Amino acid sequence: MFVLLLALLQAFAARAQAPPATLPGWTVTELPPAIGDDAAAIASGAHDASFLSHAGNTLRASPDAPLWFRLRLDADWTSTELPVLVVRDVGYVHATLYAPPDYRAQSLWLTKPDAQARFSRHAMAFVLPAGLRADQSLYLRFDRVRVERRPQVSVTDLASYQAADLRHVRIVTLFGAAQLTMVLVGLCLWLALRDRIYALFVAYSGIQLVYLLLVSGEFYDLPLGLLPGLLGQRASWIFAVLSAPLSISFIIEFCHLRRETPRLATVLGATRWPYLLALAALLAPVEWPGRDVMLPPMINLMFLIGSLIAIAVVGYAALHRNRAAVFFLVAWMPQVAFTAMRVTQLILHLPQPSWLEYGFPFTTAFSSVVVVLGLADATLRVRRERDVATRLAERDGLTGVLNRRAITRCLESEFAAAVAHKLPLALLFVDLDHFKAINDRHGHLVGDHCLKAIADTLADELQDGEHFGRYGGEEFLALLPGATHAEAIATGERLRKRIERLAIDADGVNLHLTASIGVAGLLAGTDSPDKLIERADAALYRAKAEGRNRVCTHAPLAAASRT
Ligand code: GH3
Ligand code: MG
Ligand code: MG
Repeated sequence: MFVLLLALLQAFAARAQAPPATLPGWTVTELPPAIGDDAAAIASGAHDASFLSHAGNTLRASPDAPLWFRLRLDADWTSTELPVLVVRDVGYVHATLYAPPDYRAQSLWLTKPDAQARFSRHAMAFVLPAGLRADQSLYLRFDRVRVERRPQVSVTDLASYQAADLRHVRIVTLFGAAQLTMVLVGLCLWLALRDRIYALFVAYSGIQLVYLLLVSGEFYDLPLGLLPGLLGQRASWIFAVLSAPLSISFIIEFCHLRRETPRLATVLGATRWPYLLALAALLAPVEWPGRDVMLPPMINLMFLIGSLIAIAVVGYAALHRNRAAVFFLVAWMPQVAFTAMRVTQLILHLPQPSWLEYGFPFTTAFSSVVVVLGLADATLRVRRERDVATRLAERDGLTGVLNRRAITRCLESEFAAAVAHKLPLALLFVDLDHFKAINDRHGHLVGDHCLKAIADTLADELQDGEHFGRYGGEEFLALLPGATHAEAIATGERLRKRIERLAIDADGVNLHLTASIGVAGLLAGTDSPDKLIERADAALYRAKAEGRNRVCTHAPLAAASRT
């Protein structure tokens, strides 16, 4: 699956790349810092002789001093499209370009308000004058930075750059929208169900979304989006660090780790503390030297170690048949792999390939989708468990037919429906004859066996829409909605005969039983379910008194059958 994800990502990344155009090449040279930082002098060409050759198109922004670069085309620009100087992977570096014809300073940085209305904040793009000649120099200055950065520079034409920029925006928007949708789904679920698990999901995945938008720069174009920019580079770190402990809380809860592996849950829970310390350090109002230099690599290391611990714990749970853990592992592995690659790339100062750039938002959105699926799966399991519990609560433990509470509730609802629709309703009260003697003679287990066999037989004999339940000991109720008095007596007779004919084989003991049945029907006027049971019981009493193995109705002298 991971390979499939990578292939999909590669396809996206390829769409974001500009098609190769036949444009003039260019040469970059670098001014040694010792020459100084006199912009007027440098931009007027006074130090042109001091620029030293510079290999490749990767520049450098240094913590030691502002750095100057000079760019020159290898041939005059002849295309009708304007040339554009593009500086990528620039982070929070402030760049200033001095370009012909007037060599006026043009400054750009990631969080600049209304920075470049024609382009996204993906890269810094300076539109250059038409007809730029090979003998004209461009001077690019990077401010001093706190942490060294290696931006990449290229010259392209305006049409190609805009097309590539548009593709980039589409991809970022697609992944961002997918992530936002999942956050909204989580939010709706939380509002409806009020389960903490959804709140944790919304919190960590929402914060991840903000982090993604801060890093790609889209956030700064939202209303009030420039506010986090006041914190500079720290803004994105704060959101990255904030999402980590929340996602750990989510994992612990989502995978039921406290219940299933309490010790590992404690270990994983403890890994939240370093993030909180890092957060305090990032938010502390006091500046201390090296804060922006020392903290990021430490936080990166924390992410790596923390992710490995989390994967080990969740992996252990997944191996022990924890379904939620399997979901989380699938959701999370790609994201952790990309985080590891991105951290490695940053630590080694390697250029960021576009598959890596889009890898993080892609895997984040993917992870959210799978986690939401996992949440839905958990909800489904809860529903199944509830259905089983409901079934168990309604059923008699020995015979499996409805228990007394369920058959009584059934009677109440059928009674109400019959009264409302003015339909008949009949109740049969079935009591096995001389059942105590079976117990006494053959033991309780054989008695149980008989009860089960008779309950099965009677339930089988009844039709759809008729209800059957165990009222107590060896007493059963059959509820016949819509049955007239005569139909109820006929059904009672059928049941009685079925029992009479039934040969029960209980552990080699062959038994025949009989039952007495009392029949009662709904009366017009002030009737109630209790009165109905009472009348059926009275009829049963008469059946017993008249010699058992017979069906009697509640009406005096209305014995329907006698054997
Ligand atoms: P009658 O014909 O008058 O109904 O006689 P009877 O023996 O059936 O009546 P009685 O109500 O005195 O006895 C019912 C017996 O049912 C008593 C009890 O031992 C037995 N019984 C009740 N519940 C269970 C059960 O769950 N399992 C078994 N094996 N026996 C039960
Ligand atoms: Mg009995
Ligand atoms: Mg009884």
